[in-house]
Amino acid sequence: MMAETTTRPVNLILLGPPGAGKGTQARMLEEAFGLVQLSTGDLLRGAVASGTPAGLAAKTVMDAGELVSDEIVLAVLKERLDGPDLAKGTILDGFPRTEAQARALDTLLAAKGQKIDAAISLKVEDEAMIARVAGRYTCAACGEGYHDDFKQPREEGMCDKCGGMEMKRRADDNAETVRTRLQAYHAQTAPLIEYYNARGTLTEVSAMGDITVIAADLDAIVGKLTQVS
Ligand code: ADP
Ligand code: ADP
Ligand code: ZN
Repeated sequence: MMAETTTRPVNLILLGPPGAGKGTQARMLEEAFGLVQLSTGDLLRGAVASGTPAGLAAKTVMDAGELVSDEIVLAVLKERLDGPDLAKGTILDGFPRTEAQARALDTLLAAKGQKIDAAISLKVEDEAMIARVAGRYTCAACGEGYHDDFKQPREEGMCDKCGGMEMKRRADDNAETVRTRLQAYHAQTAPLIEYYNARGTLTEVSAMGDITVIAADLDAIVGKLTQVS
């Protein structure tokens, strides 16, 4: 039988410590498959910037490198999950980060007749992730991610994607906060690998190679999910 495109949205989770490359790969998957990246970090930074009550509550926690409460994160995500632009599906980047969030997500999706199709765990050594976070910066206009050593724009100081000239660095991307974030990952988020393994949706991918090599691995995985035969 010929493969045909599925009409049900495809929902992916990218799991991994800070600096694993979740955001970088999510943006590439968006372009390749028409899925929409939902980053709870970006949603929370948006709430902080606009000074909403959720943002005010989240700011000090984020600056310290700890996890924002499930209640706040779920409220922010829930609102976004109802977006009309998610017809093809989503790439959840940085969510869920606790088992309570994972369970709440299953319930939210079930209410829409959807599910998690794959939880992709990006495996990266702690040393590598510290170097990645330390050199990270993004385009202020479009959010494209760059790195001092590993992903420089073609022209220094200018975004490849949109031509923007303003680059920014996150306040929490400092050596001290990164250690706290890494601890939070190992204690609260890494157990989700087993959560999704037990549900048959886990795929593990090495995230130690080049960005393009990892992208090719993910393309192969996601390509299979977006087709039914
Ligand atoms: P995450 O969203 O998981 O925190 P990012 O996608 O923001 O991670 O990547 C962290 C930093 O490392 C960014 O500066 C990015 O350009 C860079 N980066 C991403 N993937 C790789 C890779 N495979 N090798 C080297 N650097 C990478
Ligand atoms: P990274 O991928 O580098 O870890 P994120 O942008 O995903 O960074 O997250 C930045 C911060 O936002 C986290 O350290 C945490 O304080 C908060 N945050 C983001 N997503 C969640 C979540 N799902 N649950 C709790 N806190 C979150
Ligand atoms: Zn840009």
